[in-house]
Amino acid sequence: MTPSPPAAKLRLATVWLAGCSGCHMSFLDLDEFLFDLAEKVDVVFSPVGTDVKIYPENVDIALVEGAVANVDNLELALQVRERTALVISFGDCAVTANVPGLRNLLDGGHDSAKAVLERGYLELADATGQLPFAPGIVPELLPRVLPLHEVIPVDLYLPGCPPSAERIREAITPLLAGERPVQEGSAMLRF
Ligand code: SF4
Repeated sequence: MTPSPPAAKLRLATVWLAGCSGCHMSFLDLDEFLFDLAEKVDVVFSPVGTDVKIYPENVDIALVEGAVANVDNLELALQVRERTALVISFGDCAVTANVPGLRNLLDGGHDSAKAVLERGYLELADATGQLPFAPGIVPELLPRVLPLHEVIPVDLYLPGCPPSAERIREAITPLLAGERPVQEGSAMLRF
């Protein structure tokens, strides 16, 4: 009897937007579960596992860390949604904007980009300050920092600052088995 071909591996991406990378550190805390994961997925895009610069097509699952704070974050988030079957809002910065979103408190929330740049580079400068405008080099800040779901539809929320490795494992394991989350109401999803 001819042996059946091995099952195709899932294509997994992990994405780093405006976050401290702590959620990715928690992902690495999966320790030996990473070996189980490696048997079931190909990591096709990640700041900790690949040197791929362009977000690839046909991604099965993406863990997206961080809020959407600048134009580069926005462009990547849109690509992730377009090219990924299941998008996970990974950690509190993605889910609520969290720490990067604190700048939304400035200027009544209308244009916190201008307010935070002026505060950091002019008002608090030791010498004559200069705003860091370098079009094409430094990504322009958005007026407000946004949680991921305000920019693209997400399929699963994985909160925590960071989510514990145990919680990440519990969220990923059913996905590896082919289960998909079921929508409850407009936002909350469960297995
Ligand atoms: Fe860092 Fe917490 Fe944000 Fe994750 S949720 S990127 S650990 S600040």
